[in-house]
Amino acid sequence: MSYDYDLFVIGAGSGGVRAARMSASLGAKVAIAEERYLGGTCVNVGCIPKKLFVYGSHFSEEFDESTAYGWDIGAASFDWQTLLANKNREISRLNDIYRNLLQSPGVEIFEAHAELADKHHVRIGSNVYSADKILIATGSWPAVPEFPGNEHVTTSNDAFFFEQLPERVIVVGGGYIAVEFAGIYAGLGVDTVLLYRGPLFLRGFDDSVREFVRDQLREKGVNVCFDASVTKVERVGSAKIATTSDGLVYEAEEILYATGRTPLTASCGLAKAGVKLGSNSEIVVNSHYQTNVPNIYAIGDVIDRAQLTPVAIAEGMCIAYNLFAGESRCVSYADVPTAVFCQPNIGTVGPTEAEANQLYGNLHVYESSFRPLKHTLSHNQERSYMKLLVDGDSDRVVAVHMVGGDAGEIVQGLAVAIKAGATKADFDSTIGIHPTAAEEFVTMRDRAR
Ligand code: NDP
Repeated sequence: MSYDYDLFVIGAGSGGVRAARMSASLGAKVAIAEERYLGGTCVNVGCIPKKLFVYGSHFSEEFDESTAYGWDIGAASFDWQTLLANKNREISRLNDIYRNLLQSPGVEIFEAHAELADKHHVRIGSNVYSADKILIATGSWPAVPEFPGNEHVTTSNDAFFFEQLPERVIVVGGGYIAVEFAGIYAGLGVDTVLLYRGPLFLRGFDDSVREFVRDQLREKGVNVCFDASVTKVERVGSAKIATTSDGLVYEAEEILYATGRTPLTASCGLAKAGVKLGSNSEIVVNSHYQTNVPNIYAIGDVIDRAQLTPVAIAEGMCIAYNLFAGESRCVSYADVPTAVFCQPNIGTVGPTEAEANQLYGNLHVYESSFRPLKHTLSHNQERSYMKLLVDGDSDRVVAVHMVGGDAGEIVQGLAVAIKAGATKADFDSTIGIHPTAAEEFVTMRDRAR
């Protein structure tokens, strides 16, 4: 039987675009449908604009610190509209790059809503296209819990387009997005409160990292509140008022909910093809990203394994090579490095100390906390923290955790060493680059535990 396409991809985010263009490069006839924006969450309302905002917000500290280095720049002022306009221009440049990346190898682009009509057909408006294989890469969407007044809160989708920079913001949540945006707002001079429902945020990260970030955020002026569950939100004029379960009241112009992201599966027509969903409405796939319907695949946030752009891209590569180059690849989810761009950044790879203690009977822990050289001339109290976890039996370094300037950049390189099975002896025999923060990782000699 012949089909209109060898592969039809629904969703042109990081994973979908990679799968589509690599498949086309391997000779497949490919179409991709996208109803919102080329590049998906990462490019439009995620990683890229977020990092630009982080850069923008960090200048306040740089200006402040520069006086200790002899600079007198007068009174600095900040214009939100300039940042917004420049950010938007850059994102639209990236949208065009994504369009070219798809068009160059011959991928046909439909900028419209698409959904499954059955297991071999995709409906776009009144047209139906047939495809041998179909890939669902529709991503995820911010999840806001049900509570009275939740219509008054906003999410990261909107925070990239606020018309005015609010004077006061309440950030609710304790994951990546919450701590990143709390840092952005604090850096931009916004009166920032972070409300987290548990005793300590960043669940899943190493405990030392979580405590260190808590202290650093507070040092930078974020009002970090734990055991603070919001029960209702009310709007009074232009203010929004959040009440917590212990009766405390917080008021701000914007309340940003960063309480996780749900796989976007509702409007893809999955039921028409009989595709099975899991308990969090994620698409259930096997190790080769195949759903229960053998010709339908899914990757990225919609399968809810690791909601990270580089993971979606790696999954997209697997799809292309497995379907159109006869390979049998799958992504290894072990030792996925990750960074959180709070200020200072978190960079991490490998298990937490608590997890490693379960995995290894003889765990050696090395740690260090110090004031970076750059801050020694100024009154900037920011500190850095580093931890190495070593399996004492094999001497293998099993994890690196860091909080500090450029932690993401530093840990990316160390993740290669960990993947390659480097031992503590390898770290010790590596000459440091002086003076850097990163050299600390090759000069840790005394065990903390
Ligand atoms: P996360 O899953 O990281 O964090 C969600 C937070 O919200 C947790 O602290 C969670 O608390 C809390 N939460 C969940 N439900 C509720 C609720 N009903 N009421 C109050 N609090 C709640 O989600 P994010 O939204 O921050 O980010 C989504 C994903 O996007 C991340 O997991 C990450 O994979 C990805 N991302 C990656 C980035 C990067 O690579 N730098 C940047 C931004 C996002 P609890 O821990 O108690 O469950």
